Amino acid sequence: MVAPRYADWAALRAAESARILAACSACGACFEACPMIAYVPDAQGAAASDTVRGVLSLLQGGQGDAAARGWVAACTRSAVCIPACPEAVDPMLMLRLAKFNAQESGVIPPRDARDAMARVKAFARLGFTEAEQKDWL
Ligand code: SF4
Repeated sequence: MVAPRYADWAALRAAESARILAACSACGACFEACPMIAYVPDAQGAAASDTVRGVLSLLQGGQGDAAARGWVAACTRSAVCIPACPEAVDPMLMLRLAKFNAQESGVIPPRDARDAMARVKAFARLGFTEAEQKDWL
């Protein structure tokens, strides 16, 4: 199968979101397969199908629910969900696109890398020379 080509990122997002919304049956298999669910407090005890419907809501610009918001925020792109999907949806992309929507609309906070960068720089200082630190950090 030849992968579709898109004019730009916005076109890819729109086309892939529409494809996913048409194909996903909200069976919940991706949720059941996801290794990150154990680390999402709001998803504990949540029904798989309901949580996927929450993700689909986010994908359409809605609010989703707490479990869905927590899941999209926690996704580490393990890709374990992809072979679990019986509809060839690519749930990892579904979560990614839903997360973009949720961050852009303020439903979940945007990623703030400032705290992480401080830690990255602290580790980098352990291995960088004085000159490298001056140039790169
Ligand atoms: S993305 Fe696939 S596995 Fe996940 S709920 Fe939709 S159809 Fe099921």
